[in-house]
Amino acid sequence: MYPYSTLAETRKGLSNHSVSCTAVVQHFLTRINEQEKLNAFLEVFSETALAKAAEVDAKVKVGTAGKLAGLVIALKDNICYKGHSVSASSKILEGFVSLYSATVVERLLAEDAIIIGRCNCDEFAMGSSNENSAFGNVLNPHHTERVSGGSSGGSTVAVAAGLCHAALGTDTGGSIRQPASFCGVVGMKPTYSRVSRYGVIAYASSFDQVGPLTHTVEDAASILEVISGMDEYDSTLSSKPVPAYTSDLSKTPEKTKIAYIRECVEHEGLDPEIKKHLQGLIATLKADGHTVEAVDFPYLEYLVPAYYVLTTAEASSNLARYDGVHYGYRSPNAVDLESTYKKSRSEGFGTEVKRRILLGTFVLSEGYYDAYYSKGQKVRRLIQDKTNAIFKDYQFILLPTTPGTAFPFGANSADPIKMYLEDIFTVHANHAGIPAISLPLGKHSNGLPFGVQLMAAHFEEPALLRFSAYLMNKT
Ligand code: GLN
Repeated sequence: MYPYSTLAETRKGLSNHSVSCTAVVQHFLTRINEQEKLNAFLEVFSETALAKAAEVDAKVKVGTAGKLAGLVIALKDNICYKGHSVSASSKILEGFVSLYSATVVERLLAEDAIIIGRCNCDEFAMGSSNENSAFGNVLNPHHTERVSGGSSGGSTVAVAAGLCHAALGTDTGGSIRQPASFCGVVGMKPTYSRVSRYGVIAYASSFDQVGPLTHTVEDAASILEVISGMDEYDSTLSSKPVPAYTSDLSKTPEKTKIAYIRECVEHEGLDPEIKKHLQGLIATLKADGHTVEAVDFPYLEYLVPAYYVLTTAEASSNLARYDGVHYGYRSPNAVDLESTYKKSRSEGFGTEVKRRILLGTFVLSEGYYDAYYSKGQKVRRLIQDKTNAIFKDYQFILLPTTPGTAFPFGANSADPIKMYLEDIFTVHANHAGIPAISLPLGKHSNGLPFGVQLMAAHFEEPALLRFSAYLMNKT
């Protein structure tokens, strides 16, 4: 293993002069080249990454380097970086170059992180396997005939395969945590309203959050500390101060009350080995003096249907701007305004994106609004209320991240509903707007990793990260 594979190790190396940012970037550029077949990166920013590395090395020498000096990070291809292409892995954004940087990018750069490239993902972040990208599949580094998970598949594989220290993903219904589970890394979705969405290509605005993919909880905390907090360009952000997520990470947590959702652990679709692993973890936590109890959550079967009603509604509105006029691709066969819209959108979007735009337009249409969209909102409120009630008695909810391990390419492609059910354990946190993390604690007898998920109440990231660090150290 590369001795500087995390930010924490690289920091140490920089402070005792055993390594430079330039050397670390060069190492990753070589790795990216060697692992090109994984298809994790859509574009590598070698030039700007090396230039930034030289700049940071100079700052390190004079002691003025930022908090993230030494961090080499990749972006999901739905996060804008000024002067660089961004496509949301869609043909419709062909040739589009960002005119400004997302707030998260500005903040990373201001603290001297080095951005190494943009990563493949499902088109417009819609998917659970990265098979919906217009630029091909991303291979799981643990088994190259299996999917990476999605939609932040490229970002996750870039970390898992050692092509960078960390990556940013986005999570609307599990897109950070699900691939993290499939690839054996840490993936975290922060509380909704904690991290700015300015400059992040919108899928479903009331669900989307940016978060880190890393090897360690410590690195996730370092990144989160930098990207979180108020932004004048995103009015949905909370004005709550950002705590120092990295402090006290190594402190052993007090005796904690943890809930697990009975319906999740007993779910018939849950792989028996994942179930057994969770039961083992519950027993270990109890043996350590924590209280771990089953709670009922009667809405499990409504999570996915309500998610697909609400997110497709929001997507149909958000994606209306890709019209062949404002951005990217315009059909060469268009002859007038109407055919410009029709043909550009028909040719530019992939099948899944079109399916969701149609579904979203349908659920918002006059005759069906109350039956679907309004009802979806009501279900979301019930989910939120019930979840908040659980957090009155418990500090965390423990559950699987995914029902199984990474599946073979094509396994769910013929049946969108089967694919949507991959999200059953992850969409809960997005409905509720709460923070959730997937920790790479499981190893299946089929050789593949799987994650364990922890959710906490709104803005409880400090406790969530501390308990996660403790769990990672235990096992
Ligand atoms: N798999 C989910 C979907 O397809 C989640 C996507 C995401 O979180 N961006 O919508």
